Amino acid sequence: MSTIVIGAGIAGLAAAVRLAAAGHDVTVFEANEGPGGKLSQFSLGKYRFDFGPSLFTMPQYVDELFRLAGEEPTDHFNYVRLPEVCHYWWPDGTRFSAPGNTEDLASAAAETFDVPEERVAEFMAAAARKYELTGRTFLEKPLQKADTWLNWQVLGAMLRIPTLDLFSTMNAVHERDLQHPKLVQLFNRFATYNGSNPYKAPGLLTMIPHFEHHFGAYLPVGGMYDISQSVYDLGKRLGVSFRFNQRVDEIVREKSKVTGVKVNGDFHPADTVVCNMDVWLAYEKLLPEAKKPKRTLSQQKSTSAVIFYWGIRQEFPELGVHNIFFSEDYQEEFTRLEAGELAEEVTVYVNISSKVVREDAPAGGENWFVMVNAPAHTGQNWEAMIPGLRKRVIAKLKKHLSAPASAPEESEGPGSAPASEKGKVEPAGFNEDLIVEERIITPPELERLTGSHQGALYGTSSNNTMAAFLRHPNFSSQIDGLYFLGGSVHPGGGVPLCLLSAKIVAGLAEK
Ligand SMILES: Cc1cc2nc3c(=O)[nH]c(=O)nc-3n(C[C@H](O)[C@H](O)[C@H](O)COP(=O)(O)OP(=O)(O)OC[C@H]3O[C@@H](n4cnc5c(N)ncnc54)[C@H](O)[C@@H]3O)c2cc1C
Repeated sequence: MSTIVIGAGIAGLAAAVRLAAAGHDVTVFEANEGPGGKLSQFSLGKYRFDFGPSLFTMPQYVDELFRLAGEEPTDHFNYVRLPEVCHYWWPDGTRFSAPGNTEDLASAAAETFDVPEERVAEFMAAAARKYELTGRTFLEKPLQKADTWLNWQVLGAMLRIPTLDLFSTMNAVHERDLQHPKLVQLFNRFATYNGSNPYKAPGLLTMIPHFEHHFGAYLPVGGMYDISQSVYDLGKRLGVSFRFNQRVDEIVREKSKVTGVKVNGDFHPADTVVCNMDVWLAYEKLLPEAKKPKRTLSQQKSTSAVIFYWGIRQEFPELGVHNIFFSEDYQEEFTRLEAGELAEEVTVYVNISSKVVREDAPAGGENWFVMVNAPAHTGQNWEAMIPGLRKRVIAKLKKHLSAPASAPEESEGPGSAPASEKGKVEPAGFNEDLIVEERIITPPELERLTGSHQGALYGTSSNNTMAAFLRHPNFSSQIDGLYFLGGSVHPGGGVPLCLLSAKIVAGLAEK
């Protein structure tokens, strides 16, 4: 059985491994010069950066790929569990460091926010129940196949629909169950894990923190790119042929059966074609004559992002791997995002992999991945928006990350790190002058570099109750032998779900 995979994003890589392990003769065509797609890496001077994802949950889905090939995962891929998953900062000076397990989260939140511990514990228990009732059905199986629905687990979930909060928003569930504005804001943030709006996304998604706090947040020992690299290497060991710098131009079919693909005018035959390209663009560019599933393809896009990759020539002990600096008015931010704009005051996310992967930055420095949620690209003038946004982000970080009380006052101009008597450089607060390397990525560049329609990070948003059912299925209903996977189709965006889409596709192709 010969199989062609279009795209070496994490889902394409995982599908290539699964199908090669099942005996397929697999060739992967990738438009870029290397594997990974959004999960790739680059360097600026002595600083290494992961291009996109920074939070790694459900590592077992990666481990599974090695076991499938008869290998021991730890011989090839290793990761550490983060004891603290995120440091949260509020404009009024409140700080909260969220522990990496559910029990400690409840007690720490109770102490910081002065709420009963049981309130947070019960909220997390409800998140666990929602995941157990629906997770396997909605995330691990194709929704458009009858046998997904004909089993006892689904019946059980149907009977418990009232407890799933399907018809409330995430924000409404948080207000009802957590009853503290800062906890509501903290948990509302989980909607952004799939690029959605907590004031619209269904309450069922309040299960998302269960992934991070129960199953855990991890970091591969060499950084996020280890995920792509190790699965790519596994594919090569299994005999997968990778063709980089080769963009597929057309999916070829005869009547209703796929027969191969065209690359630079050359036809490459295949019995099965697995498409990891953004599904919207795949219909537009590779299948121009196919009937488009209009309703599916017109779903609202997930959010995109503006990312500042900064090499910083100082260490900030008060920061962790993941840090969130909240805005005063979270709802206003999402209102503006929905209008295709950026709010004046934005929430800022700072990821620093060098806290764990020391080689990611030179001694005494840190690699900052600074991200602000942005609307999908629909023609906005980003060049005009970025200088103002950059100033606001720097001002916000400067306000929170002031010089430690023991450090001398700044006296030699902005950003200078004054030398003490012993000649030791004392830490200054955060300042623009500490940025020694910089790259800025905007939504149109995300589209250009990763082939993601409108630069959406997670395909389509989950901003309505039916969103999960309106994602494109993992197969084509018109063309036999054609499958779709990755962040723009079922079960959705994010590394774990992309890995599950590969599992679903391998299962369907084998059938
Ligand atoms: C800034 C950012 C932050 C994120 N943060 C997180 C996070 O913290 N945690 C998390 O789990 N997820 C995160 N995500 C989402 C996650 O990165 C994606 O959901 C996931 O990596 C998408 O993988 P994919 O398999 O769909 O393929 P993609 O990574 O989208 O790759 C698709 C590949 O197909 C190739 N391609 C496209 N068209 C063609 C063609 N015609 N011919 C050949 N090749 C083609 C592209 O070049 C690309 O390499 C983030 C994403 C971004 C951008």
